[in-house]
Amino acid sequence: MSALSLLMRMIRSGQFADKKILLLEKAPKTQNDRTWCYWEAGEGFFESIVYRQWPKIDFFSDTWDRTLDIHPYTYKMIRGADFYRYCFDIINSQPNIETVYGEVGSSAVAEGECTIVLNEQLYKFPKAVLFNSVYTPGRSRLQVLQHFKGWVIESPLPVFDPQKASLMDFRVHQDHGTTFAYVLPFDPYTALVEYTLFTPALLEPGQYDAELRNYIRTQLKLEEYKVKEEEFGIIPMTDEKFSTIRNGVIQLGTAGGRTKASSGYTFQFVQKQSQEILDRLLSGQPLTGLSQTPARFRFYDNTLLYILYHRTLPGRKIFSTLFRKNKAAQVLKFLDNDSTIPEELKIISSLPTWPFLKAAVQSLAMSRL
Ligand SMILES: Cc1cc2nc3c(=O)[nH]c(=O)nc-3n(C[C@H](O)[C@H](O)[C@H](O)COP(=O)(O)OP(=O)(O)OC[C@H]3O[C@@H](n4cnc5c(N)ncnc54)[C@H](O)[C@@H]3O)c2cc1C
Repeated sequence: MSALSLLMRMIRSGQFADKKILLLEKAPKTQNDRTWCYWEAGEGFFESIVYRQWPKIDFFSDTWDRTLDIHPYTYKMIRGADFYRYCFDIINSQPNIETVYGEVGSSAVAEGECTIVLNEQLYKFPKAVLFNSVYTPGRSRLQVLQHFKGWVIESPLPVFDPQKASLMDFRVHQDHGTTFAYVLPFDPYTALVEYTLFTPALLEPGQYDAELRNYIRTQLKLEEYKVKEEEFGIIPMTDEKFSTIRNGVIQLGTAGGRTKASSGYTFQFVQKQSQEILDRLLSGQPLTGLSQTPARFRFYDNTLLYILYHRTLPGRKIFSTLFRKNKAAQVLKFLDNDSTIPEELKIISSLPTWPFLKAAVQSLAMSRL
């Protein structure tokens, strides 16, 4: 996603037609292997392939629920298959871009020469810039996995409201740790239903299916439906210290630390990074100056990660408090790392003081080790 987000911007700028570009990928991207959801104010770079969007979101917990207006944002979804098709249709029509399928091993850039191991063979490219989006986990002290299974279900009755997506539904048991479901309606009959956990360990495969069935029966009150598609995913939520450049190679996407440690959202952070890279390439500024996630947001993320990892407060309580005591659009701005310090102080002061203070001290101490 990150490599294609950058490449599409380079193509659209029209300024790289005289450069030779090599795109390496394991295998053709023909599967609808994921859906990307994110919120955005106005139109974005990939607007034409947004599959569905919702102006309102629902939040549910056992003690509080609300339909939240998220203006100026809308919650959007892009299907993986649409994204890959759209990008590769354009990429394949560019005479200066070659796509080669194979297994990339190590890669490095030194003194302008780039070396790549592809299918166990070493290749050298003089005067090349190299971008990597293959994530190899590094050292972390806290690691929570965001793991989820989703079904696209079709009901014989018009039970879904396509004007609203449910962002978090905490009316599911919390035996394993922070657990919620969400529902993204495509039309009155069809929706993507996901069962998601933020916990250190995965469940047995059958458990996700059982929990999905149970949620659909008890909360959506649906007995009869067809499962049209499935998705399963694991997103690492980690306090790992990412660098934008490793061995001279520019790190994109998750590999470059663009997955938000406390939420797993990546899509919009990647769009910002791609735009920044493009702007630097066009203006001749060095890529060594690429921005990192601001330190204060990493600190907030690590604090929440500490709480989720050690279960010092239930995630259900934290997220309910966040959305109950603050405007939804402010929370989303904060989660996008776009808030100002006064806005952050207001949000932070709405959360339970002591558990967060203790976690903040601990995560600060750990970051110095
Ligand atoms: C199922 C799923 C759903 C997600 N949903 C959301 C969402 O709703 N919103 C959101 O913001 N984020 C979401 N994420 C998180 C994140 O946005 C995605 O993981 C996103 O694809 C990350 O982009 P990337 O470019 O870093 O990695 P990828 O898109 O995974 O790209 C890495 C590419 O490298 C290729 N590759 C890997 N190893 C090799 C190798 N050795 N040689 C050659 N090629 C290789 C892979 O095939 C892949 O195409 C989701 C993740 C998953 C797994």
